Amino acid sequence: MSDDHHHGDGFPDLAHLPSDPALRVRAMESLLVEKGLVRPETIDAYIQKFEREVGPHNGARVVARSWVDPAFRERLLENATEAVREMGFLGAQTTDVVAVENGPKVHHVVVCTLCSCYPWTLLGIPPAWYKSYEYRSRVVREPRAVLGEFGIELDDDVEVRVWDSTAEVRYLVIPERPAGTEGLDEDALAALVTRDAMIGAARLEASP
Ligand code: FE
Repeated sequence: MSDDHHHGDGFPDLAHLPSDPALRVRAMESLLVEKGLVRPETIDAYIQKFEREVGPHNGARVVARSWVDPAFRERLLENATEAVREMGFLGAQTTDVVAVENGPKVHHVVVCTLCSCYPWTLLGIPPAWYKSYEYRSRVVREPRAVLGEFGIELDDDVEVRVWDSTAEVRYLVIPERPAGTEGLDEDALAALVTRDAMIGAARLEASP
């Protein structure tokens, strides 16, 4: 059996590229700009979009609203795409959304077994672990073990549901509202919601 693929430097024609990803990105950017394939303003606009406009702060607002507004929560669980549109968060990789709600007897967790499909507009760019082969293959086989490694211990009577994202449908997990947050308003609640909790890979705690 040949293992040519595993000798990392099997691409001698690329050996002059810097190994540091940041340098590689810069080298590629200058080349694309130099060849007139992309304008620097376009790259800047994309960076700005991912720095400010899309990201887990959007998902967190959706979650917080579902906690304080029962009618919104109902719309969200019924048709998340419409509920998210209502909040102005319909966008890149987030055009067909399904919201699933965690509770004392059910825990939802999201994966993309094929690649890394993810609701960008609500959650930003997926974390490296979400794209890893290990997570993608293990969370469907042994979700409780994987969740345990994320620090989520589930009793035997808690049902675990694993949702496989696709190019069409993306999932948003509505985490359980932490105890002791009854007095908080929507903004303060949104600040407690983490990206990982909206994937189902973390639980939330009230801030100290
Ligand atoms: Fe994918």
